[in-house]
Amino acid sequence: MNTHTTQSIKEWKEQLISQDEIDRYLVDGKDFIDEQQIYTTLEKNTKTDPSRIREIIAKAYSIELMSGDDVAALLQVSDPDMRNEIAQAAKEIKKKVYDNRVVTFAPLYCGSKCVNRCAYCGFKSDNPSVIRKVLTMDEIREETRVLAGIIGHKRLIVVFGEHPETDADYIAQTMKTIYEVKVPVRSGMGEIRRVNVNAAPLPIRDLKKLQEAGIGTFQVFQETYHHETYQKVHPADTLKGNYRWRLYALHRAMDAGIDDVAIGALFGLYDWKFEVMGLVAHARDLERLYHIGPHTVSFPRLTPAVGTNFDHIRHQVNDADFAHLIAVLRLAIPYAGMIITNRETPQIMESVIDMCTQRDAESKIGIGDYADTYRKDQIAEREQFMLNDTSSLDQVIQKLAIRNHITSFCTAGYRCGRTGDKIMGLLKSGKEGCFCKLNAVLTFQEWLEDFASEQTKKIGEALIQKEIEEIRKRVPQDFSQATFTKFLSNHDQIKHGVRDLYF
Ligand code: SAM
Ligand code: SF4
Repeated sequence: MNTHTTQSIKEWKEQLISQDEIDRYLVDGKDFIDEQQIYTTLEKNTKTDPSRIREIIAKAYSIELMSGDDVAALLQVSDPDMRNEIAQAAKEIKKKVYDNRVVTFAPLYCGSKCVNRCAYCGFKSDNPSVIRKVLTMDEIREETRVLAGIIGHKRLIVVFGEHPETDADYIAQTMKTIYEVKVPVRSGMGEIRRVNVNAAPLPIRDLKKLQEAGIGTFQVFQETYHHETYQKVHPADTLKGNYRWRLYALHRAMDAGIDDVAIGALFGLYDWKFEVMGLVAHARDLERLYHIGPHTVSFPRLTPAVGTNFDHIRHQVNDADFAHLIAVLRLAIPYAGMIITNRETPQIMESVIDMCTQRDAESKIGIGDYADTYRKDQIAEREQFMLNDTSSLDQVIQKLAIRNHITSFCTAGYRCGRTGDKIMGLLKSGKEGCFCKLNAVLTFQEWLEDFASEQTKKIGEALIQKEIEEIRKRVPQDFSQATFTKFLSNHDQIKHGVRDLYF
């Protein structure tokens, strides 16, 4: 039942934004997006000669945040051969930092009610074409049972509109509910081990509630870093109309103790080169204040949504530029994970996955859609549903395995406190890869046991054998004999039904 009146929504909105939680981050009253400087930097780095581009590429292997001039020079490259060299380096850097691992996850949309009117989004409050619903905790449980017990996900990102019915208390409750769900699967228990959150910016007091509830990553996309465009698509009388409240959402998260944050821009609203410069400036400001950058970067491309008017899209990014901007981001913020979502076609996914670290699979973005699909298909034709739905994540994983990517369901790093500055140090030194390599094999084997089709299990296990041989060759330089012996024993135990073993 909706207990919120227009008056109570107004009061809720008024107490949300605190000017002090913006002003404290400004330098001389200015935010970190200096538009004039971005334009000047882009301008002076046009037509850079190939030898300098190659020097910039070489520097990127030191896994440090790139200077604005270097990022601009890479962005301005239009020659396909030179772009190709950048893409090759991006793939190598992905491998150097994250090895051949890819993480899969699914979004769980919890509520479609929203007080904002973002021009591009179907959830905007003045859109009558969308059904408004907020999931109850029972419904959250049902969704989770399908995600963790049938599809086989271990990681979710929970997504919310901005509304008093989906406030911080609701978000925290959602997370707790999801973590509690355990579903018997073939030989173990299906469960979600990591819940990331994509929600509107929150004040520090609310962010602390999410931290206490066990948040994984807090993700807020700036949408566009360009002030004027931002104002155009986010009406000034809405909460989201406050550019700086959003710009410092992740700074506040850090101050609330959430040291795992994710940035992103919605490509298509403004010039893509400007947005990449904005993302790098965002990472730089986080590093300046907290000595750690974003854990992940997202780069969704605007897609048509029901009830929205697309006149405002003047900057749609074509496929070639899109692949190039991903490669540049990979080099510019080399320690960050990079997330591609299935807003993109399978062809695009395939062409950029070697530069990325995470992708979603078998996603449904309607409120309550996971359980609905399950129920419907149960009534209609259960087999077909089981095949279709599991084969979807299964197919993704099989395809990845064929390309030599191991799907990691590892969440050990977060549970052992390898987050924030600790993970940054490990990523930059390449050491995170060591723990993760072992855990990727163990969690992948677990997934193959509990969810894989016969064909995927065969392909997956062949890849695991290759991985084990590679690990064996790295004893004792990277792994002690004792660690390797324990790893083999863990692997064997997982094949015999033991679960959740990690380093
Ligand atoms: N309401 C919260 C907010 O705005 O931050 C979080 C939920 S919102 C649905 C999550 C993200 O979806 C937004 O940050 C935006 O980047 C993306 N999004 C919204 N409309 C989109 C569209 N038409 N195409 C692609 N992505 C879109
Ligand atoms: Fe959509 Fe988020 Fe904007 Fe609401 S605040 S209209 S959910 S993008």
